[in-house]
Amino acid sequence: MWHTPPNIESMNIEQLRADTPGCAHIVHLNNAGAGLMPRPVLRAVTEHLEREALFGGYEAAARAEKDVQATYQALADLVGAAPDEVALVENATKAWGTVFYGMPFNEGDKVITTHASYASNYLAMLQLRQQLGIEIVVAPSDAAGQVDTDALERCIDQKTRLICLTHIPTNSGLVNPAADVGRVARRYGIPYLLDACQSAGQVDLDMDAIGCDFLSGTGRKYLRGPRGTGFLVVRRERMDLITPPTIDLRAATWTATDSFELQGSARRFESWEGYVAGKIGLGVAARYALDLGMKRVEERIAQLGEGLRERLGALPGITVHDIGRQKGGIVTFSHRSVSADAIQQALAAERINVHTSGPEWSRLDAEARNLPLMVRASVHVYNTEEELDRCADAVRRLAS
Ligand SMILES: *Cc1c(COP(=O)(O)O)cnc(C)c1O
Repeated sequence: MWHTPPNIESMNIEQLRADTPGCAHIVHLNNAGAGLMPRPVLRAVTEHLEREALFGGYEAAARAEKDVQATYQALADLVGAAPDEVALVENATKAWGTVFYGMPFNEGDKVITTHASYASNYLAMLQLRQQLGIEIVVAPSDAAGQVDTDALERCIDQKTRLICLTHIPTNSGLVNPAADVGRVARRYGIPYLLDACQSAGQVDLDMDAIGCDFLSGTGRKYLRGPRGTGFLVVRRERMDLITPPTIDLRAATWTATDSFELQGSARRFESWEGYVAGKIGLGVAARYALDLGMKRVEERIAQLGEGLRERLGALPGITVHDIGRQKGGIVTFSHRSVSADAIQQALAAERINVHTSGPEWSRLDAEARNLPLMVRASVHVYNTEEELDRCADAVRRLAS
C-alpha cells in the first residue's frame, strides 16, 4: 500500500531483524521507551556478567578494560567529540543533572528553556529556583511547534547563564532545530545544554555542527543499549565551568590528607562503582549504530514515522498530535472515545508494543496544547511497513 523507498532496501532490513531477537516475537513500537537490543549488545552484556560470575567482578573488569575504553571512543564518535569529553553514568537524567546542578548559579540568574522540556529536567529547574532563586524563562514556540530561535534570542540578557534544549521531546514527533539554537548560544557565549536522550541513536549528531557545550543521552532508547546506562559529554573548554555535584575517588584524587585534585577529563563526572557489563554493552550499541550509518538510520526512522502518521491520521476518530517542521520516529495520537490505556492494552494483546504519554511528562507543551493522555508509538530502523499496517489495522478495528 505504501511505497518503500529504495534507499531503505539497501539497508538489508531482513538482516537487521535477524540481528534483533525481539523482532521474531513482537511488533515493537516502543523505541522511545526502550529499543530492542541487537545480538552483539546482548552478547557483550551477558558474556561480561558470566565472566563476573566465573572469575570475580574485579578480575572480569581488569580483563575488560579495553572494551570499556572502546565505549568512550564509540560514544565520542557518535556525537563528534573526544573520548576524554565523555562520562559514563547511570542514565540521561543523571547526566543532565550533573551539568545543571554543577552550574555556578546565583540568585537572579536566568535559565532559558523551551516547551519541549522533559519533566525531570524541569523539576531540577524548579528546585534550583526554590533553593537559589534562579529564574526560568520559557522561550516561545513558532507556529509549527518547534522552538522559535528569534524569540529565544530576544529572551537573552545580561543575566542569562544557560540555554537548555530538548532535542526530541518524549511526547511528540518534533525534532527541534538544535543547530539554530547553537548559533544563538555561540553568538552570546552562553553555555548550551542539549538533552539528546531521544535523538542519540535516532538522528545524526555532531556537537560541532550543533554548537552545544554539553550533551546528555541514555543507553536504552534509540541507541538500543542496556537499561541503566547513560552518558554525558562535556566540551573541554567548558569542563571547569561545572563543579561536579558529587565526587569520589574516581572523579578526584586524594592528593594529601587535606587536599584533592579533580580528574582532568570528564571522568570527574563519573563515580567509581558502576555497571561494567552495561558500559561495555553501551559501547557496542553505539558502534552498531555507527556501523549502520546514522544518516541512513535517521532517514529511515523519519520515513517510517511519517508512514505511521499517515496511516493513523486516515482513521476515523483518531487525532495525530505530532508537531514540528522536522519530525522523527515518535508518533502520538488519541481517539475520540477509546482511552489511550485501552488502546495500549488492546495492542499488547496482539503483541504490538506501544506506550502512553501523559501531560505530566512534558507539562509545558501538554498544557499549551491542551493534550490528552496519548498513545505513543515510536518506530526504529528494524520496523517494517507491514508492521505499521498491522498496528494501524489493530487501531482501526478497535476504534470502529
Ligand atoms: C527518557 C528521557 C529522559 C530521561 O532519560 P533517563 O535515561 O530515563 O534518565 C530525558 N529527556 C527526554 C527527552 C527523555 O525522553
